[in-house]
Amino acid sequence: MGQNIIKIKHVKKIYQMGKEVIPAVDDLSLNIRKEEICCLLGKSGSGKSTLLNLIAGLEKPTSGEIIFHKKHMERMNEDQLASFRQKYVGFVFQSYNLLPTLTAMENVTLPLIFRRVPVKERNELAMEMLKAVGLEERAYHKPHEMSGGQQQRVSIARAFINRPEVVFADEPTGNLDTKTTYEMMDLITGLAKKHKQTLVIVTHDLELSEYADRIVVMQDGKIDHIEERTAEKERGSL
Ligand code: ADP
Ligand code: MG
Repeated sequence: MGQNIIKIKHVKKIYQMGKEVIPAVDDLSLNIRKEEICCLLGKSGSGKSTLLNLIAGLEKPTSGEIIFHKKHMERMNEDQLASFRQKYVGFVFQSYNLLPTLTAMENVTLPLIFRRVPVKERNELAMEMLKAVGLEERAYHKPHEMSGGQQQRVSIARAFINRPEVVFADEPTGNLDTKTTYEMMDLITGLAKKHKQTLVIVTHDLELSEYADRIVVMQDGKIDHIEERTAEKERGSL
């Protein structure tokens, strides 16, 4: 840990709504460290999702640089960004984003289909992943036959199945009750730590930032301050 995996330099994302100019991310610089759990914390509208989408290659900055593995993401075209995401990135969304007509198993195998993994191998990997999230018994259920927590487990399995270097999660527990929220946070952070993946997680919930190594507090599209938590966590576990 410690090496930077993503460098964000003076990034701006400006939205134009009629005559109104909205600097959603405003000249922000930040390095994401390899294998850290980095939490973007802030009030609604502070620019967390916009920043996450920029780093994940879902959107392009208005200006500034985003460098991942020495590659400049702001210079990539849509095709390059898509293959970048397939190769390096996993996502967990607040609304799960599962395909409603597919079973849990089929949803989890999707990233492997895009990578042309043979069917037998991808079914084995998906079942392994569903076991890891405690859902093997629901493998052949469709999203509407599962609870919110179970659907989020499926989406976590899908996000992690490629063993992506970085997993991005945007308010992943926003639609869940308190107990399920902690189960889900344990699961996501546990998987990331176990497989030495970098996790960038967006939340407005101070309690959830407890899981982070580092908390980046955002306000009005800028970083208000950064809290290092690793040292505290280590002291706590002594
Ligand atoms: P957060 O995730 O912290 O709630 P967002 O990144 O979603 O904040 O939004 C930051 C600001 O940018 C808000 O003022 C929001 O209204 C604005 N914004 C976000 N996305 C868009 C968009 N697609 N078009 C116009 N304005 C947007
Ligand atoms: Mg948001």
